[in-house]
Amino acid sequence: MSLNAESTAFRSALEVIRAVEPRVADAIGAELADQRESLKLIASENYASPATLLAMGNWFSDKYAEGTVGRRFYAGCQNVDTVEALAAEHAKELFGAAHAYVQPHSGIDANLVAFWAILADRVESPALKKAQVRQVNDLTEADWFALRRELGNQRMLGMSLDAGGHLTHGFRPNISGKMFDQRSYGTDPATGLIDYDRVAEAAREFKPLILVAGYSAYPRKVNFRIMREIADSVGATFMVDMAHFAGLVAGKVFTGDFDPVPHAHIVTTTTHKSLRGPRGGMVLCGPELADQVDRGCPMVLGGPLPHVMAAKAVALAEARRPDFADYAQRIVDNAQALAEGLVRRGTKLVTGGTDNHLVLLDVSGYGLTGRQAEQALLDSGIVTNRNAVPQDPNGAWYTSGIRIGTPALTTRGLGVAEMDATAELIHTVLSQTTPGESKAKYVLDPALADKISKQANELLTGFPLYPAVDLG
Ligand code: PLP
Repeated sequence: MSLNAESTAFRSALEVIRAVEPRVADAIGAELADQRESLKLIASENYASPATLLAMGNWFSDKYAEGTVGRRFYAGCQNVDTVEALAAEHAKELFGAAHAYVQPHSGIDANLVAFWAILADRVESPALKKAQVRQVNDLTEADWFALRRELGNQRMLGMSLDAGGHLTHGFRPNISGKMFDQRSYGTDPATGLIDYDRVAEAAREFKPLILVAGYSAYPRKVNFRIMREIADSVGATFMVDMAHFAGLVAGKVFTGDFDPVPHAHIVTTTTHKSLRGPRGGMVLCGPELADQVDRGCPMVLGGPLPHVMAAKAVALAEARRPDFADYAQRIVDNAQALAEGLVRRGTKLVTGGTDNHLVLLDVSGYGLTGRQAEQALLDSGIVTNRNAVPQDPNGAWYTSGIRIGTPALTTRGLGVAEMDATAELIHTVLSQTTPGESKAKYVLDPALADKISKQANELLTGFPLYPAVDLG
């Protein structure tokens, strides 16, 4: 029997790799086997298509292409131009954006590009102009000193970490927390929802240069029209980091006030997560910021990754197909079914439910920390990650929450019925786990963990991962 194209491609690739370093080929094969067996509920992960994966393993990886399409600092970039232009074109069409910059290597890089573009646009800085003309590596100490004096300490208002914001929105462990004087807005302690009046009040008091919306762990829609009004009322640039929910924007589940693109001055995203592309980032903006955004490399980025831009073009082409909208809707249907299943079983959820792809469990109701719950679930074949809940008494390391998301399981084809079964498995593990003598230790009967693992695996049997890929 002849093999299909996907199986032939991946088998051949592994054979070629095995001839050089067999342990790498084995690890790649083992990763597929592990992913096939685990009930992946990590809200930021997904399974990219074979076409997307294959677009990354080729000669584009060898090419340097600093600059932008048609204006490169290296010769021989005509094919890179083709894929970069294609990725940008698909992104513009998909999201209705005037400009797309597809070079960022990751979400963190996309945010850095956006921050520097906004600073360059908004702050009068002779030193920055010099930096842009002479390239960053040529700056003297005195230039850097002037740059810090002229640009430093600008203000940013973003969502607090424990309410679901992201480290790159001005928090200390990230460079954005050192670049900006940051203040954050939280959520209403009673409802867990963003209180727009409080955001407006904070903006009036703080007068930020940048107002950031977007999150990693907020299970609700954000009204970007209102956020833009708040930004306008204080003269702030409104930036949205849609890394987590870009797939829901692409799939037209988030429209009108909930689609960030028509409302924000600048939008950043990852291309993986719910968008289901390769690991990478992207910036969308209007014509006003386009020139500054295109200076991302070399301002804060190294040379672009043409192989990843090729994969972005493939994944974005996939996201423009009608079936992606159906996929995006099923992500949300599944998340809501999972949330309802958990609530029915007595689990406490932050905000009581979800409007998007993620559900945030407050596991203090089970007497557990997030760390204990995460590990007990992992022992039982359920992959999640711990996450702080608003005003978390256990801090960001141990936490009191578990974040789960449905983009990956939805890609496999699991539906609402399987989500109820998943809720049952999660509830059984958490209700049967007891806290140990530290915030990390716990007790769970290994026989029960084993039984749940088997049930989790059975749940997946009807939904094979990469059904067309047979590694033999
Ligand atoms: N922005 C948000 C909202 C995120 O959730 C993440 C990743 O978790 C990032 C940015 C950073 O993305 P990356 O890991 O690609 O740098």
